[in-house]
Amino acid sequence: MQASINDIRKELNGLYPREEIESFIRIIFRQLKQFTLTDFVLKQDEVLPKKEKDQIKQIVARLKNKEPIQYILGETEFYGLPFRVKPGVLIPRPETEELVHWVLKSRRMAGRRILDVGTGSGCIPISLKKHRPKAHVMACDISEGALEVARMNAGLNQTEVAFFHLNILNPLLPDSFPKIDILISNPPYVTESEKAAMSDNVLKYEPERALFVPDHDPLLFYRALAIFGSKYLNHGGQVLWEINEAFGKECQELLKENGFSYVRLKKDLQGKDRMISARYLRS
Ligand code: GLN
Repeated sequence: MQASINDIRKELNGLYPREEIESFIRIIFRQLKQFTLTDFVLKQDEVLPKKEKDQIKQIVARLKNKEPIQYILGETEFYGLPFRVKPGVLIPRPETEELVHWVLKSRRMAGRRILDVGTGSGCIPISLKKHRPKAHVMACDISEGALEVARMNAGLNQTEVAFFHLNILNPLLPDSFPKIDILISNPPYVTESEKAAMSDNVLKYEPERALFVPDHDPLLFYRALAIFGSKYLNHGGQVLWEINEAFGKECQELLKENGFSYVRLKKDLQGKDRMISARYLRS
């Protein structure tokens, strides 16, 4: 293989849908060769120098093993910003860009204290801070490895986010922990039985504990978040979460049972119940 664009197409043909192969090619050549749109048209058969050829051959071999392109290159884009990713950290999803967009639209944030639980790469808090520099943005995760990557991403994007370790299922916080105004989360929500429908690149390479919940308790993390919210949200504070489209009603009920009002579901671009928001009014 000469590692030209047309070679890569041939190598990956049949292993991925056609559009996905085209998107790999764009990502690889944009990152490695800074290709412009014109280059993609004119340089389909261009033979590359040996060093780049070897690099591309390696990338293609890893793609053949179904490794996510984001882990291979160590980087991805989220809400227009660059983020480092590596195994152990969930690759940011487009649905979550919709969550960020909704959060940015739905409330004033200047001076507000915002907490993202289960932040992974830090994509949510960093995008929010970038767009609302006057907000106080905090984020936590159970994984020290994820926190390390998230801190690196905050630096990469020149934003200030306070990251700290927390297990939301057993949240040990000092009494002095400040009350928050907005509680955001994209927790694990894929049930074990939905696992079968997921693609190889997710199952073989992405962190299980960022994705899956037991069949017998699909709302595990939402219950913990609701209890956390009822303890740490200011009067009128808001939750905004990404959810499993199969459990919209159940999430609504759960929030009401825990004393939240104005519970609202929101669909994603695919028309699925993907987000939920609610307010916590203290009596
Ligand atoms: N939407 C993600 C996926 O299907 C799941 C994210 C999550 O569990 N929070 O891969």
